[in-house]
Amino acid sequence: MPREPVTAFVSLGANLGDALETVLAAVQDVARLPDTELTGCSRFYRTAPHEASGPDFINAVVCLATRLTAPHLLQALQQLELEAGRERPYVNAPRTLDLDVLLYGESCIDSPRLTVPHPRMWARAFVLYPLADLAPERVSAEILASMANQPVQPLALA
Ligand code: AMP
Repeated sequence: MPREPVTAFVSLGANLGDALETVLAAVQDVARLPDTELTGCSRFYRTAPHEASGPDFINAVVCLATRLTAPHLLQALQQLELEAGRERPYVNAPRTLDLDVLLYGESCIDSPRLTVPHPRMWARAFVLYPLADLAPERVSAEILASMANQPVQPLALA
């Protein structure tokens, strides 16, 4: 276990059932992970399916200060996905809840089960817009501008 908390960014997405309720609940669940503190939550976004199918997604990104190792963080997130009823009938199937580790400190990890930074994050507006809410220094204006073909709509939550 790392002695100092590590700053990690995790993306959340859902597009089945009450997706907004699922993502709101998942933020609370992630905040309750052991040895982990929720230090930030982006705006919520409605996004069209990208490399996926089904209804629109609700997406967000959270920032954590965690003492979990990266593999343990992934394991804990996958447990939350399971508890949210996620099934994987085929690649990119509509999902009840999808949780990805985007960044784990400055670590670069390339193992069979975990790649960090997340290999596809730089091509996904539904990740980069919420990440820019929390860490604008990590997402250039140029890369956001290049995402114009992937519309994202920030939600105004009461
Ligand atoms: P997905 O179906 O998109 O949730 O992908 C899950 C699979 O991606 C799992 O088998 C994970 O082990 C693997 N994976 C690799 N890198 C990551 C990451 N940074 N975050 C989440 N899952 C990852």
